[in-house]
Amino acid sequence: MDTITLDQFKDRFHSEDICADYLFQMKWPHGFVCPKCSHRHFYRITTRRLPLYECAQCSHQTSLTVGTVMEGSPTSLQKWFTAIFLASRPSPGINAVQLKEIIQVTYKTSWLILQKIRRAMSTSDATHLLSGMVQVHDACYGHPYNITHQTHSKEHFLLVGTSLNEQKQPTYIKMKLLLESPREKFISTPQKKSFAERYIEAEDSEVEYITQRLKPRRLKIGYPYFKKASQWLNETFHGIGVRHLQAYLDEFCYRVNQALDQAPLFQSLIQLCATTKKADYWQVTRRKRKNKRSSRGQVANSFYPL
Ligand SMILES: [Zn+2]
Repeated sequence: MDTITLDQFKDRFHSEDICADYLFQMKWPHGFVCPKCSHRHFYRITTRRLPLYECAQCSHQTSLTVGTVMEGSPTSLQKWFTAIFLASRPSPGINAVQLKEIIQVTYKTSWLILQKIRRAMSTSDATHLLSGMVQVHDACYGHPYNITHQTHSKEHFLLVGTSLNEQKQPTYIKMKLLLESPREKFISTPQKKSFAERYIEAEDSEVEYITQRLKPRRLKIGYPYFKKASQWLNETFHGIGVRHLQAYLDEFCYRVNQALDQAPLFQSLIQLCATTKKADYWQVTRRKRKNKRSSRGQVANSFYPL
């Protein structure tokens, strides 16, 4: 399915029923399971836009989209499927303006759909740690590293971590945005500690930290990926502000990691979307909720929270 064109994809999923059947398989790959009592038999109720599934034992009714990124969305499954198909494809990716035209929705809807898919990708990344031989280097998005010590307001620093196999080929990559710029040309000890705590498997990992400005010519395996991510952000979205930058970096890394893993792209992403709870409004827009304080873990966080 990953090599087919958009038109071929639309032919394959040409009705809501076909999409619903496919989503059913992705959500319950081993057959229906009642979310309340785990019973496996159900009655299908088809009086609504989307079918409802009523448990034969406890009569609890659940829909296909409950507990998925599509929950509560009035947009059709066909449009969601098209968005997920386009978001799963390797470069150049899709932006909200392009998606709005293709699936005929408002800009706000297409932006929210892509943001919810992106959040599912971030959630997936949060369950995976770097391990084995890990190389970590700093990078700067938005403005080239300047030679002075002063930080430019458009410079956003991040750490790029790459798991490597024995042939020093990358197997998994993460790019995490730093809350503060690295000082004195070094990734600081708290930043290293925070990165290791959050993103690297504690046991049996061998970690090498490389500072860009200190050793600019040293081989940094993740660097070409960062350059590609930077180019993608600029060409597809005309640059991204710091508020949403981490989600876009996660989206880029998700596609790279799926390709490194040789995973089936559309199937993996729809499975992820079918098993990931939708992000709420505050998470998607990254607006601050009043009177809500974020709790911090024991190690000070040096990275943008999701
Ligand atoms: Zn039940």
